[in-house]
Amino acid sequence: LDTPLFADLSGDIGVSFEFFPPKTEKMEAQLWDSIQTLAPLGPRFVSVTYGAGGSTRERTHATVARIQRETSLAAAAHLTCVEASRAEIDAVAEEYWAAGVRHIVALRGDPPVMGTKFQPHPDGYANAAELVAGLKRLHPFEISVAAYPELHPDSGTQAADLDNLKRKLDAGATRAITQFFFSPDCFFRFRDAVAAAGIDSEIVPGILPVSNVAQTRKFAGLCGAEIPGWMDRLFEGLDDLPASRQLVAATLAAELCRKLYAGGVRHFHFYTLNRAELAYAICHLLGLRPVAAAQEKAA
Ligand code: FAD
Repeated sequence: LDTPLFADLSGDIGVSFEFFPPKTEKMEAQLWDSIQTLAPLGPRFVSVTYGAGGSTRERTHATVARIQRETSLAAAAHLTCVEASRAEIDAVAEEYWAAGVRHIVALRGDPPVMGTKFQPHPDGYANAAELVAGLKRLHPFEISVAAYPELHPDSGTQAADLDNLKRKLDAGATRAITQFFFSPDCFFRFRDAVAAAGIDSEIVPGILPVSNVAQTRKFAGLCGAEIPGWMDRLFEGLDDLPASRQLVAATLAAELCRKLYAGGVRHFHFYTLNRAELAYAICHLLGLRPVAAAQEKAA
């Protein structure tokens, strides 16, 4: 790849940021700090996850509704099919619509007991494609869905996974956001396979800046993403040096984004884990500057 230096990047990118609903007042303060730091970068949207088994239903709603009410950001709510009837899920979606939320990240979700097979609720949506269709029947929501460059653990083959992705997009989703990955080639191969399957919707890479390899490996094992061996070596000896670890994490993720940019990617979705620093630094390296400052400069 002919990869431009950071200094050559023009900042012609769109970004979105993912948060999770906070559990405590302290976590809530941290989330709002992060939202306020990242908001001036003018994200296309910010999204809030839905806990396993719908466990954060109220907290997700409260967080999304507050973003919608108190900021000028477009808030997207994640919603899953787990352990809920269609009527219950539709009621949650109706509440979002009434609160002015127009964007849903529609997911199947994972079984409440880790390692077991997903069982749809008897009156529920069986998978994300059914959920997308159900939401579209209610209102003209903008809908994003999930995609898996390294295959979803439940899918037999890439062809089946791509068929499933196509069903979600055909049912009315506008874009797919990927599970995190650490090799640009893995994303490019997936993008080629998606195009070859006749899918022309936007595929947005999900970027996870990693500063704790052990924790990421635990999570990655569940979702089918591979943590390359070289990553351990990269973080070796940094356990007690958190500042250095952050610098390595930012460099690594920025390098991934730079290569994706060189390959034509212009929208990046950041898994922020409710912390602004890494995402902000990476966006800055990609040439993004606060919207108000850019407007002043143009004037
Ligand atoms: P689906 O697209 O429905 O499919 C999952 C798998 O099942 C695929 O492999 C597919 O091939 C297979 N499959 C589906 N339907 C069929 C069928 N009819 N026949 C055969 N096979 C089928 N989880 C949460 O709990 N909360 C969140 O907020 C959340 N946010 C996420 C955000 C992103 C960007 C991503 C990538 C994932 C997120 N997840 C979240 C995780 C997600 O819920 C899990 O990965 C889940 O296991 C699959 O959800 P899905 O929407 O991709 O499922």
